[in-house]
Amino acid sequence: VTFASSRRRRKPPQHGTGRVLPAGDFVGAVDIGATKTLVSVVASPLESWSETIEIRRFATPARAEDLVTIVTEALAELSQGLTVGAIGVAAPGPLDVASGRLLHSPNQAWRAVPLGSELAEAARAPVVLDDDANLGALGEATLGAGKGKSPVAYLTLSTGIGAGIIVDGRLVRGGHGTAGEVGHLVVNPTGPQCGCGGRGHVESYAGGAGLARRARLVWPTGRLTSDPAIPAPTDADGILRAARGGEPDARRLAAEATDALSFALAAIGAILDPGVIVIGGSLGLRQPSLVRAAAARARKRVMAETRPGLTIVPAALGPLSALAGAAILASEGDMVEATVRP
Ligand SMILES: [Zn+2]
Repeated sequence: VTFASSRRRRKPPQHGTGRVLPAGDFVGAVDIGATKTLVSVVASPLESWSETIEIRRFATPARAEDLVTIVTEALAELSQGLTVGAIGVAAPGPLDVASGRLLHSPNQAWRAVPLGSELAEAARAPVVLDDDANLGALGEATLGAGKGKSPVAYLTLSTGIGAGIIVDGRLVRGGHGTAGEVGHLVVNPTGPQCGCGGRGHVESYAGGAGLARRARLVWPTGRLTSDPAIPAPTDADGILRAARGGEPDARRLAAEATDALSFALAAIGAILDPGVIVIGGSLGLRQPSLVRAAAARARKRVMAETRPGLTIVPAALGPLSALAGAAILASEGDMVEATVRP
């Protein structure tokens, strides 16, 4: 196993309420995605993300108990007897950071899963959790495209849409833990249903799940209206491909997705005046032309003074932003609001 940086100790970091994470030379990092889970063990503090860092990847299991088992085994294999001081976990929101519970996950039938305490018990190490948008932001602001900039907004464009905000190196979680939920910004109060129960939210137009729902409504027969001989697209990538090919319904859906995303970017620009907006998430990384079109539209519509805040760049850590953020969260106790101990 090769690690990114040399082993060295520093003062055990403290977080806001005075609790201290144990000083360990290594930390575990876990990123639980809707389909894939990544696990790694890295030197603490993590000073750069290197391609030599070993990552275990597996399909996210349907049962939360299986997830704890697989993650614990992967951490044990990767650490090879080294002491892991703490484990940082990026999880799909919403979650209760204080108790380490995943409240629900749209892709797994998980309800109030006490992942933090179960993983802490199984792996015999303290566990800190946060949502993937927040940890993607922490990863990019510390080691990626947001390094040296403040504030940093990280927009994850994937099955859903969310943002993490870092101001002067610190994660802004908000008064109730929901800061940065730009996916649920209303762009049309009579628009399509959102996964959260609301209507016309950014995510219902531009998120992967929202676009798949729109495809089912626009092409209920599964065939193009413009040419019933051709199967209709069923997901975001298919819709955007058909739109580029000139299919009229797909062009409308793509234009509305671009518009919705441009409103989210404009809102981030107007409220935060960020040093940079970093775009990540599987859809955001795969479809840079959608992001570029939305950014251009946002810049055209905001007031001139907001435009410098709309500097939009792809995630430098690619699909590993949240995994890096999980490692940083585990290392830097001053970021941590709550630690679940074994
Ligand atoms: Zn919503």
